[in-house]
Parts: sequence; structure tokens; C-alpha cells
Amino acid sequence: MSRLEMRAIEKGFSGVPILRKVDLTVEGGEVHALLGENGAGKSTLMKTLTGIYRADSGEILLDGVPQNFHSILDSRKAGINIIHQELNLFSNLSIEENLLIGYEQPFRTAVGWIRSRKLREQTRELLQLVGLSRSPETPVSELGIGERQLVEIAKALQSDVRFLIMDEPTAALTDQETRRLFQMIDDLKRRGVGIIYISHRLEELFAIADRVTVLRDGMTVGTYCMREVEEDVLVERMVGRSVENRYP
Ligand code: ADP
Ligand code: MG
Ligand code: MG
Repeated sequence: MSRLEMRAIEKGFSGVPILRKVDLTVEGGEVHALLGENGAGKSTLMKTLTGIYRADSGEILLDGVPQNFHSILDSRKAGINIIHQELNLFSNLSIEENLLIGYEQPFRTAVGWIRSRKLREQTRELLQLVGLSRSPETPVSELGIGERQLVEIAKALQSDVRFLIMDEPTAALTDQETRRLFQMIDDLKRRGVGIIYISHRLEELFAIADRVTVLRDGMTVGTYCMREVEEDVLVERMVGRSVENRYP
């Protein structure tokens, strides 16, 4: 089973420290939530993990091997994929085109045509896998947010994904779409994929996560088992004062 570790990660912007010695360990086959108030550093941590930002110091290890990601392509090659809060699809292109983008010239040459037919089959299979019942030719502009999310997941699954990061994935979803997404996450988990799930909706964490790491002001507060931790305790860790004083 895979293991992803971030150790003592520090990251600042223009001399202002944002992440201060953050530790995070995620196992393959678990849903690991990242909990923290707005501005705690969750997105920055994930951008540092995926090579979008370079850490100022600290280590990233995959199965015990130190990694040095210079770009999001490096982390993707290593099997780490991120679905951003702001989805990255081209809405004027079709579902299929969005999935095929990134593959070099799939339609150009005769040889390319053959290759693209195989890719198109794979695309259809992927859409089935994520449960998106739409024709691959549908323009993304016609899709709801939940459906776009599924396209993003399909895109992430194109490469051999070992860890999938979801940054507040349900923010714009309906209840039904959220349930569908949770099913998808469960499937991925069973296939051994480690999910890093960013949300501040506690009821969701209790529904889907196995463990949670709490971040506050760019620092790791602790990692807890969802089955053993109480909601009040999590809130207290997250906001840094007792729950009774939350609304003074
Ligand atoms: P979260 O995702 O937990 O809401 P972020 O990681 O987005 O938090 O932000 C953490 C802090 O870092 C915030 O104070 C934010 O303003 C700051 N920050 C994030 N990205 C940048 C950036 N590119 N340049 C300067 N400051 C940033
Ligand atoms: Mg935020
Ligand atoms: Mg964020």
C-alpha cells in the first residue's frame, strides 16, 4: 500500500510564513480529511504537495522515497492528482475533448487516428466508471457543477492515480450529487487510492473520512481517527479556543 508523507513543510510568500512545519501522512486506501478555517493553509499545503509551489523547507516522501516535484506534471507522474476548488475544464470544449487534451495530437496523423480511437474507447469507459450518463460530445458548458466534478475525476483517473486531492469538492453540489461523489470516493478507496479530502463541513467528514488532520494558522494541530474523535473537540482544535466561547 502506498504512503505519502509531508514532513516539517515550511512555505511563505514574500517573507510572510504561511505553512509552519506542517506534517501530514496519508495512506493508500484511506480518506484523509484536511480540516481548518479559511486561511489556515490547506490549499497552499496541497499546492506545495503537487509541485505548484516549492516548499521553502521540509520533505515530501512517497513510500519512503524523497520527492522533488518542480511542477504539477512531476507530481502527476508520481501518481498524485489534484482537483482544484476552481475546476480547470474548458467549457467551450466537449467532455471528450477535455479528457483528451494533454494527449499529443490525438487527431492529426493516420497513426494518431488509430491511437485516438483507443483513447476514445477509454474515455467512454472512464465516463461509465464515474457514472456520468452524458454523451462524450456534450459541451462542458451544458453540464452542471456536479457533472463537471465527475469529468474532473475521470480526468484524474486517466493516469495511474495513487493519491487524489479534492479541495472542497461538494461546495457547489446538490445532495444527490454529493451522494454520488461519496460513492465514487468509496470506489476509489477500495481500489487502494488515498484521498485527501478538504472540507470544513464536519458532517461530511464524519460521513466519508477515516482520519483527519487539523490545520490552524499554518500549523498541524493533530491527526485524529474520525471514529474516535468528537465533533466538539475537532471544532475546538480548528478554531483554537473552547467551543463554549465560540460565539461570545
Ligand atoms: P485555506 O485553503 O486553508 O483557506 P490558503 O492556503 O488558501 O488557506 O491560504 C492561507 C494563507 O496564505 C492566507 O492568508 C492566504 O491569503 C495566503 N496565501 C495563499 N496563497 C498566496 C499567494 N499566492 N501569495 C500570498 N499569499 C497567499
Ligand atoms: Mg480558502
Ligand atoms: Mg482553500
